[in-house]
Amino acid sequence: MKKVYTAQNVTEAHFVRDLLESQGLVVTVRGEDLWGASGELPFVDAWPTVWVLDDEREAEAQELVQQYEATKAAPAPGQATWRCVHCGQELEPQFTTCWSCGTERQG
Ligand SMILES: [Zn+2]
Repeated sequence: MKKVYTAQNVTEAHFVRDLLESQGLVVTVRGEDLWGASGELPFVDAWPTVWVLDDEREAEAQELVQQYEATKAAPAPGQATWRCVHCGQELEPQFTTCWSCGTERQG
């Protein structure tokens, strides 16, 4: 059994578990029972960890985890810059109208 991921919370651990299981890997989450019902972290080192049972598929699991982390690192929708449909100006996410021509953000 190999540890392939240390999550920051139980939700994330379950997400990674589901991701790996969807690829046919047999995985288990450890440490989630250390979390209280409130979701508060009782111990500093109580991060939930995701383990793949089949050692030979560790590399495959690591690759999936890396893909997941790359996705996570990407800006979420609404956080990304946007482009004005009228004048093509690229705008920071905090703007709801184009400061160049005043056109409202679409979508
Ligand atoms: Zn504009």
